[in-house]
Amino acid sequence: MNESKQSDAPHARDSCNAPRNLTGGHDAAGVPLLPPLACIRTPYFHILGYSVAGEESVVQIPELNVVFDIGKCPRPVLTSDFCLLTHGHMDHSGGLAYYLSQRFFQGMRPGTVICPAPIASAVSGMINAFGRLEGKAIAHELIPLSSGDEYELRKGLVVRAFPTCHTVASLGYTLIDRREKLKPELAEQQLPGHVLRDMKARGERITYTLDIPLVAYTGDTALPETLSHPDVQNARVLITECTFFDPDHRQRASIGRHLHVQDLISVLPQLQNEWVIITHVSRRTFVQWAAKHLRRSISGMTIRPQIEFLMEHAQKLRVLPGSAAAFIPPEPPYVKEADPAES
Ligand SMILES: [Zn+2]
Ligand SMILES: [Zn+2]
Repeated sequence: MNESKQSDAPHARDSCNAPRNLTGGHDAAGVPLLPPLACIRTPYFHILGYSVAGEESVVQIPELNVVFDIGKCPRPVLTSDFCLLTHGHMDHSGGLAYYLSQRFFQGMRPGTVICPAPIASAVSGMINAFGRLEGKAIAHELIPLSSGDEYELRKGLVVRAFPTCHTVASLGYTLIDRREKLKPELAEQQLPGHVLRDMKARGERITYTLDIPLVAYTGDTALPETLSHPDVQNARVLITECTFFDPDHRQRASIGRHLHVQDLISVLPQLQNEWVIITHVSRRTFVQWAAKHLRRSISGMTIRPQIEFLMEHAQKLRVLPGSAAAFIPPEPPYVKEADPAES
């Protein structure tokens, strides 16, 4: 396609000033040289990460002790004990061996990797190959999952896998807050504790299980149906890919097995999520343009979730000449209210 004929400027290179005259850690205009990490504060947890299609996707939820995908390994994600890998593409898995090795180097306990069962032996082989290069085994735990499988991350916090559709074996993950609650009929009776304990001792079930899906992460997927899965639709926060926005890129989306914005728009009215966070926007698409394009397209629709683009919340890091290139996360900003002028 001839890009010069496009008038709506969806492409980053059409809209961004590339940094020039790079000296001493930053350029004259203060454009940061370190990749910016985005940070979104929801009422439940923070979402920290970086996600650009084909380049890198890494999305951490520090409070839940997980990082979804690990295209590279920004320093803050070392603090999560669990890495949930959706598929093996390098922009999602490239930082995995470094994450595991660096955790050992920093004196942390071995990381646990959860991945789709069909790629478990390849992931294991990759980690072991790095171990041979380093001259020592890289301590880790590998948990292969299939669609519908569950794994308890900690008491009361469970990950459940759901199906996605991509060019390689893939899975999405929902994190579930699982609580045992007293049955309503028993709660109504306000029975004393010793009576309930006696009932339990006799083997009677006095509780029921309440699952609250906290967050669902799709990774890469072509299926709008992925977003119709109950675990996905009902999660408080949905983090989904949406790679293509240009009306001419439907075919690209279908070949690469990714979502096009029209796919997303078709399911948005069904979503019960409080928040939808969009990741994995194509490198060729300027994220602010994509956000305006989507908000304009849905302005007449009734949509429940608040929609945010992860990379619209990227921190503008400044690395001054002579300062160490260490990343210190700044205070996460409050998410701005939706701007009515953009709807
Ligand atoms: Zn990807
Ligand atoms: Zn992929």
